[in-house]
Amino acid sequence: RVQSGPLLSVQSILMQFGGLKALNNVDLTVERGTIHGLIGPNGSGKSTMMNVLTGIYVPTAGDVVYASNSVVGKTSSEIALSGIARTFQNVQLFGEMTALENILVGLHHTFDSSLLDVALHLPKYTNEESDARVRALGLLDFVGLAAEANEEARNLPYGKQRVLEIARALALDPTLLLLDEPAAGLTAPDIKDLLAIIQKIREHGITIILIEHHMDVVSAACDTVSVLDFGQKIAEGKPAEVQSNEKVIEAYLGG
Ligand code: ADP
Ligand code: MG
Repeated sequence: RVQSGPLLSVQSILMQFGGLKALNNVDLTVERGTIHGLIGPNGSGKSTMMNVLTGIYVPTAGDVVYASNSVVGKTSSEIALSGIARTFQNVQLFGEMTALENILVGLHHTFDSSLLDVALHLPKYTNEESDARVRALGLLDFVGLAAEANEEARNLPYGKQRVLEIARALALDPTLLLLDEPAAGLTAPDIKDLLAIIQKIREHGITIILIEHHMDVVSAACDTVSVLDFGQKIAEGKPAEVQSNEKVIEAYLGG
């Protein structure tokens, strides 16, 4: 069945922390198969939006409709299982685990063995475990980390840690992937590799929301960009349109 309508529709979201409106009546529509940029000065509400979309925060008001269903009030793991995966602004890997093990952690909840199968190492679990290893290696290969499969995550260069996080999010087999400042702290060559990976992910039909500070990355990657400032959406359009928008220039210069 062909799905119609936008993949994600964020409707009049208010996210209030005490007296602070971190998101103030924000609407956002993300079309299937696109890369949708979310930009704005520090503190404008970008990460808060990610947290609302993934059930970490329950919005004060408004609705989030994903693939025609409201996700407001669902737990983070329910939302993840429904196909929304994310990376975090700060690296959140298990440093003492290998790259491969970090992916396997992401895959575990997709097993349908009972706890007893797992505890007794019954064949069903053992099969799933080896299938998972094959899948995890495939994901590492997909992002260019096959050679690092058995390295401890903490020993990987920073750029590779960020890419490993993306691979772990992909282990969920998401329909929508949220990337929170994946290029932050990366060198220019690492950013080039990251852009190639993001394009490859999109070619697999995965829709992406990309929070990003580097305008060149946004211009290269995004079909549409929404701009937040003090919790409000102040502009939206193609990267070139948004970059020349007076309100956007003002927000960045004033910030
Ligand atoms: P951005 O990601 O755009 O830099 P954030 O979404 O992290 O901005 O933050 C937006 C605003 O909301 C900031 O003023 C921040 O301090 C505030 N904020 C975010 N999360 C919380 C929270 N859990 N409690 C209180 N204030 C928060
Ligand atoms: Mg942030």
